[in-house]
Amino acid sequence: GFGGSTNVSDENLVGGQKRKLGMRRSVRDRFISPLLSRSNSNEEFDQKNEDVPVVHEKLKNIDPKMVELIMSEIMDQSPNISWNDIAGLEFAKTAIKEAVVWPMLRPDIFTGLRRPPKGILLFGPPGTGKTLIGKCVASQSKSTFFSISASSLTSKWIGDGEKMVRALFAVARVHQPSVVFIDEVDSLLTQRNETEHESSRRIKTEFLVQLDGASIDADERLLIIGATNRPQELDEAARRRFVKRLYIPLPDYTARHELLLKLFSNEKHLLIKEDFEKIAQLSEGYSGADIKNLCSEASLEPIRSIDFNDIQNIEASEVRALTMSDFEKSLNRVKPSVSPNDLLQYVKWDQTYGSGG
Ligand code: ADP
Repeated sequence: GFGGSTNVSDENLVGGQKRKLGMRRSVRDRFISPLLSRSNSNEEFDQKNEDVPVVHEKLKNIDPKMVELIMSEIMDQSPNISWNDIAGLEFAKTAIKEAVVWPMLRPDIFTGLRRPPKGILLFGPPGTGKTLIGKCVASQSKSTFFSISASSLTSKWIGDGEKMVRALFAVARVHQPSVVFIDEVDSLLTQRNETEHESSRRIKTEFLVQLDGASIDADERLLIIGATNRPQELDEAARRRFVKRLYIPLPDYTARHELLLKLFSNEKHLLIKEDFEKIAQLSEGYSGADIKNLCSEASLEPIRSIDFNDIQNIEASEVRALTMSDFEKSLNRVKPSVSPNDLLQYVKWDQTYGSGG
């Protein structure tokens, strides 16, 4: 049931999920033991137990299983994303570089009035590159990246969510500089209703404690990036905790065009300059993720034209190049996922609460 449980349930830890996620992130090969080797130890660490490896001071009261879980599922030692991998969003990129990336690289210069915000909020429709930006910030500021969705705290780790939050921030502190990316952060910052489960109430409280703790300690190199598709749900207290609030909108024509060229840079196709321009025009209203789907769908057309009996034997080089007519088909199949009415809401919220220019 909810609450009450004091130990991490093994089911959560060693279920099929973990393996799958662990493989996707492929952090295993860069696994750093939560237990420090003796050679790293100093007075900060527990030296009483001569025979067992010492645990980092900050992880002393944290369930070691949770530490391991966080390191395998949530932590990404060195994401490799550059600003050029993100199409468009020039305003947000510039604002983020100045507000958080440079300060993380040069904490000695960004002191006093220049002290960076500890929390930034990225809001806007789904699939527009918020997660990508989070990864890029971590990568460019040479930080460890932690990524978790708020809903997984309440659903996947039922009963352990509160401890997960505490463990997550403890591990992030050990591996600082760190970027902690929290998707669907709105669900952690609003008290929705009376009937809310006790366990999710505790998760929220713990999250606020950690968030406020991070902003009090100036020496800690910890950045919290919250992402949300529902900024309207954030109350005043929540907004106050994210000093910088950046709108991440749908890609404009230039960004769509850039993204299309990027996606096709390594693909076999017969598209000419004008075709890319046409697709960029026709895909107005599509998110970055929609455009990616559109391209994947189009790229399947050459495969669909192969006779089923031949698919086993055909040489990869014999698969025909992608054409504009493949795109015309996929434009009919893949539709924009965001409604114009939703967009209006983001624009309004941005005008009232955003850090936009
Ligand atoms: P969000 O976090 O805003 O929901 P993501 O960052 O997870 O969206 O984007 C989903 C996918 O869509 C990305 O992995 C990327 O392939 C593509 N994408 C979305 N926006 C962009 C963008 N601005 N530039 C490049 N790729 C993008």
